[in-house]
Amino acid sequence: LGSRISGALKKLHEKPIIDEEAIKECMSEIVKALLQADVNAAYIKKLRDQVMLQVNLEADAAGTNKRKIVQRAVVSELQKMLETDKKPVKLRKGKQNIVMFVGLQGTGKTTTIAKYAYFYIKKGWRVGLVCADTFRAGAFDQLKQNAAKIKAPFYGSYTETDPVKIANEGVEYFRSQTYDLIIIDTSGRNKQEEGLFDEMKMLEKTINPDEVIFVMDSTIGQSCFDQAQAFKNAVKVGSVIMTKLDSHAKGGGALSAVAATQSPITFIGTGEQFDEFEEFEAKSFIKRVLGMGDIDRLFSVVQEAIPLDKQPELLNKISHGQFSLRDMYEQFQTVLKMGSINSLMSLIPGMNSGLIEKGKEKEGIARIKRFMCIMDSMNDPELDGHKQLNDSRIIRIARGSGTSVREVNILLEEYKKFAKMVQKMGKLSLGKANDMQNF
Ligand code: GDP
Ligand code: MG
Repeated sequence: LGSRISGALKKLHEKPIIDEEAIKECMSEIVKALLQADVNAAYIKKLRDQVMLQVNLEADAAGTNKRKIVQRAVVSELQKMLETDKKPVKLRKGKQNIVMFVGLQGTGKTTTIAKYAYFYIKKGWRVGLVCADTFRAGAFDQLKQNAAKIKAPFYGSYTETDPVKIANEGVEYFRSQTYDLIIIDTSGRNKQEEGLFDEMKMLEKTINPDEVIFVMDSTIGQSCFDQAQAFKNAVKVGSVIMTKLDSHAKGGGALSAVAATQSPITFIGTGEQFDEFEEFEAKSFIKRVLGMGDIDRLFSVVQEAIPLDKQPELLNKISHGQFSLRDMYEQFQTVLKMGSINSLMSLIPGMNSGLIEKGKEKEGIARIKRFMCIMDSMNDPELDGHKQLNDSRIIRIARGSGTSVREVNILLEEYKKFAKMVQKMGKLSLGKANDMQNF
């Protein structure tokens, strides 16, 4: 979806003359893309009308750039689609908040619960987990393991088959010990069926949660809207968490989920690790879906991942579009230290996919270590980008590092991709000669 929308915008951008016809053509492509992504037709119509309205309004002012107006209007309308009027329930520390997670089996509820709990534990909250999934074998063990990793207490049973009873007991158990946040994990079955929704209704009625969070797998494509609506009709969904946004940035699913539930998205899951979890920000999300480097997030990630004394330097370089092999080396060090790719790299389209593939972390890390070996054999001017590597140097470096010419070249390719991306982002951040700045 993202690429089709940005494709349509790009096409418009390249047109020599932007007349009404060109804009209509662009909008009709965007409409088609949204329709195919199963976004509610009424919303799409509103988006098109709003964009056309803004174009007509602003275009009357002399000298305005219609390309920019269209781009800005599309992004801002998409953003509005994602920002519902309804705000998520505000949980307060010191109050015994009860949050129930719902969603189909395999969407990532149990994983997300651990991430969500961890998010609050880091803030100093006392969080307890309750396993009310009595349907799936091993559900309790899975929650237990997750709970142990984040050091959160849990409640559940191997033998009890009544989810309502366990949920009730679990809530009472944590309530009596004044926990700040009590999270209920529920069963998802493997398809939408009456039994599942009856169970959710019963649970909701009995434990009376402050918030019901609907977890949706962003990779499912077309069926997002119906699935979200089915849950919304059964229980009082208050907010949505989208998972698996690491594999494909499927923007359509997010738009559909919001449209169907009339509820805001609060977080997104971007991997299987507990720290691969982000607070949702509509604008940032839209920019990412449209394939634009997201400079704000890049900067906040740099702040988290890079030692303080190194930050100003790196941020400054990035904003000037500079990124040397040495910077890459330091990024690799961070990646190794953090054990996951949750740093700068993961923001760079194309980069995370090649370096550390999901489920192949070990190989990925070995690869990074070899890359670092190669860079260890380079000299300072080469690392700092003051000197180009010629063939004879590449051969020497391969020999010196015990690798091969092919590997050295692969490293240089990866570096080039990265540097190019940083350069692009540098332009964005400085707003230099680039229409896209208005995103
Ligand atoms: P549940 O049945 O809804 O409780 O789903 P689980 O929490 O058991 O997750 C199902 C699968 O999805 C597991 O293999 C998780 O590791 C995986 N998963 C969950 N969230 C994410 C995510 O954000 N990204 C990726 N790549 N995988 C995820
Ligand atoms: Mg589960």
